[in-house]
Amino acid sequence: MYNDIKNNIWHVKQEINTIQKQHNKLQKKISFVAVSKNQSIDTINNVLSTGQREFGENYVQESIKKILWFKNNKKIYPKPIWHFIGHIQSNKIKLIAEYFDWCHTITNKNTAFYLNKLRKEDAAPLNILIQININQAKNKSGIYPDELVNLSEKILIYSRLKLRGLMAIPTRESDYYKQLKVFLNMNKLFKQLQNIYPSIDTLSIGMSNDMTAAIAAGGNLLRIGTAIFGNRTKNKNLKILNNGI
Ligand SMILES: *Cc1c(COP(=O)(O)O)cnc(C)c1O
Repeated sequence: MYNDIKNNIWHVKQEINTIQKQHNKLQKKISFVAVSKNQSIDTINNVLSTGQREFGENYVQESIKKILWFKNNKKIYPKPIWHFIGHIQSNKIKLIAEYFDWCHTITNKNTAFYLNKLRKEDAAPLNILIQININQAKNKSGIYPDELVNLSEKILIYSRLKLRGLMAIPTRESDYYKQLKVFLNMNKLFKQLQNIYPSIDTLSIGMSNDMTAAIAAGGNLLRIGTAIFGNRTKNKNLKILNNGI
């Protein structure tokens, strides 16, 4: 199991390198978040021991147990960096503000207001990505592109938040060129925002099935689950902690 994961991570890195080379983007740093939803602490620890520090979680309740375990375990160093990539429920904002380093799924100013208010003074500012509904689909979450400037202005006034860029989860699409087209639209928005605010540096696009197109389109923070951990089993009895709690 450990060797599988090590191998998978090696392959993800190879893929990033190859596609970067093809597009003459080698000078740019492209990193990835290991999406560890439904994965146990042991499994996450295996990934961490390969040197991969960024992890993405979707479910607050499940993730806090993991985050606390790593935080409280004195032998763990360096510590994981936690990205919240799930849908934000308003009753979970406090926990996100308290336990995460990044939040990828901001879609309104109210959430930003409370995240800022609830972020502890002694913690680093919470890194923020605005989620874009890039397909402009009714059943998808994220703001429409024309709302971006307005929401960015609101977020930038908060001192406990640091606006870093954009994120999208496009409609699933198996055709490479269709994936690329949508991601290029994201990159255009990203560049526009960067022109206004030069400190914007992160474009979170690309999952296991479309990472190639995401890299080609200029994504620099991929979110990779299946390609690292294998297919997620919907195991309701997943033992998150080693001791089975
Ligand atoms: C689960 C998830 C991923 C990872 O998807 P894979 O296809 O397993 O790589 C990426 N981003 C978000 C927002 C997710 O929920």
